[in-house]
Amino acid sequence: MATKAPKAKAPGSALTFDTDWSYAPAPESTDHASVRERYDLFIGGRFVPPAKGKYFPSINPATEKKIAEFAEADADDVDRAVRAARSAYDRVWSKMSGRDRGKYVYRIARMIQERAREFAVLESLDGGKSIRESRDVDVPLAAAHFFYCAGWADKLDYAFPNRKARPVGVAGQIIPWNFPLLMAAWKIAPALACGNTVVLKPAETTPLTAMKLAELIAESGLPEGVVNIVTGAGATGAAIVNHPGTDKIAFTGSTGVGKILQKAVAGTKKKLTLELGGKAANIIFEDAPIDQAVEGIINGIYFNQGHVCCAGSRLFVQESVADRVIRKLKDRMETLIVGDPLDKNTDIGAINSKEQLGIINKYLDIGQSEGAEMYQSSCSIPGRGYFVRPTLFLNVSQSHRVASEEIFGPVLAVQTFRTEAEVLEKANNTPYGLSAGVWTDKGSKIFNMTRRLRAGVIWANTYNKFDPTSPFGGFKESGFGREGGLHGMYPYVNLD
Ligand code: NAD
Repeated sequence: MATKAPKAKAPGSALTFDTDWSYAPAPESTDHASVRERYDLFIGGRFVPPAKGKYFPSINPATEKKIAEFAEADADDVDRAVRAARSAYDRVWSKMSGRDRGKYVYRIARMIQERAREFAVLESLDGGKSIRESRDVDVPLAAAHFFYCAGWADKLDYAFPNRKARPVGVAGQIIPWNFPLLMAAWKIAPALACGNTVVLKPAETTPLTAMKLAELIAESGLPEGVVNIVTGAGATGAAIVNHPGTDKIAFTGSTGVGKILQKAVAGTKKKLTLELGGKAANIIFEDAPIDQAVEGIINGIYFNQGHVCCAGSRLFVQESVADRVIRKLKDRMETLIVGDPLDKNTDIGAINSKEQLGIINKYLDIGQSEGAEMYQSSCSIPGRGYFVRPTLFLNVSQSHRVASEEIFGPVLAVQTFRTEAEVLEKANNTPYGLSAGVWTDKGSKIFNMTRRLRAGVIWANTYNKFDPTSPFGGFKESGFGREGGLHGMYPYVNLD
C-alpha cells in the first residue's frame, strides 16, 4: 500500500508542496511472527480450553480481518486460574529466595528482547499502532521493566530498610488495549519480583501479545501457575475482582470501570491500585523553544493514535506566541503519515477498534456542534480499516466537551492563556490528574508549575517519556497507586 504524502496546500496551513510525491512502502516483514488460529487459556503452566468452550475473535483494525480466536473465560475458568496461582504461591513462589525469583524475571526480560521483532509485529497487527512505536517504545520498555524489577527481587531489604517485605499473595491484574504488552509487563514484573503470583487479563481487543507472552513464560521454565493469563471481556475481569482468592487487584483502564472496581473491593481485605483516564494539559510558554515544543505537542497527542492515558490532549499556548505555534503545528501535522501500521514510514496507525473509532468521530461532531473550529491534516487515509486524520480544535473554552472529556484519539483541544496563574487554574480545572507538560526556558517557572499542577507525572521540555525507574500514576479521578520505580513495588508487599 503506497502511503501518500500531502499534495497541496491545506486550508489554514502555510505549507505547500510543488510536486506530488509519496514514500515507497516500507512494510515490516511478518515472516518471523507466527499466529495460531485459536488461543486457549494459560492456567497452571498449560494451555487449556475454556469450560464453556466459547471463543471470540480479535480483529486487525487496519484490515478489519480476523487475526485469531481467543478463549472467553467465565467465572469457573477464573476460579481455576486463581486456584493455580494460590497453589503456586503456597508451594513454590512465596518460599523461593529473592535471588532465584530474580533469575526467572531476568530470563523473561531476555527472552522478550530475543523475540522483540516478533512481539513488535504482533502488537501492531492486533492493536493498530505503528510498527515504529511497537518496535521502539512498547517492546523495549516491556523488556526494560522486567529487567528493572528483576534487580529488586533480592534487594527488598534495601528497598524497605528496617522493614520485612512479605508478598501479598495472588494478584488479579486487568489491563487495557493501548499498550498491551507493556501494561502486562508493568503488572507482572513487580508482582513476581516481590514474590506474588498472578492472574492477568488482557483487553478483549488486544489479547495477542499477552498470549505470546504466555507461550514465552511456558518456555522460560517459570514454575507452573506463577503466571496465569485468561482472556475475555468485562465479565471475566469482574470475576477476577470478585473472586475471594485474589488478595490484590491492579487495574489499568477507564475511570468508569475503576469506580466499579473500587466499590467491588470496598470492605474486603484486597489491596487496590487504579491507573485510570486522563486529560493532560500541555503548556507552552512564550519563552519556550518553539520548534521543540511543537514536536512535543505532536508526540504528546498523535503518538499511538492518541490512545494514551497521559496524552497531552489539552494544549495551552501563551497568547503572545499562539499564532506562531498554531501555524507551525498545522504545518507539522501536514507531514504526518496515517496508514498501514506495519509500514515503517507510518506515524499514525489504525484506531484500535470500530467502537473506539465511533467514539472519536462522535467527539469530532460534538466539537463542531459546540462551535469550535476544527482543523484536520489533508493527508490521505486508507479506504479500509479504522483511521482518523490528526485533528485539532481551535476557539475552545473550558466548557467545551472536547476540552474536558477524555477522547482517547488523535484530537487536540487548543486554548490560550496570558499568565501563569491563569494557566494553572485552567490546567487543574479537571477531574483528572494523570500527567502534564510544561515548555519554558526558565527553570524557576518549571519548578513553580510542577509544584502546583495536580498531576502525577509532569514532563518539562519533553513529553511522553517513560522509564521503568520512574513511578507513574495519577491524582484525583486518574486513580491511585504508582507503577514503576521503587514506588511500584509497594502495592505488591506487606511491610512488617
Ligand atoms: P476499560 O476500562 O473499558 O477496560 C480496561 C480493562 O478492564 C479491559 O481489560 C476490560 O475488559 C476490563 N473491564 C471492563 N469492565 C470491567 C469490569 N466491570 N470489571 C473488571 N474488568 C473490566 O478501558 P479501555 O477502554 O480498555 O482503556 C482505555 C482507558 O484506559 C482510558 O480511559 C485510558 O485513559 C485508560 N488507561 C489508563 C492508563 C494509566 O496508566 N492511567 C494506561 C492506559 C490506559
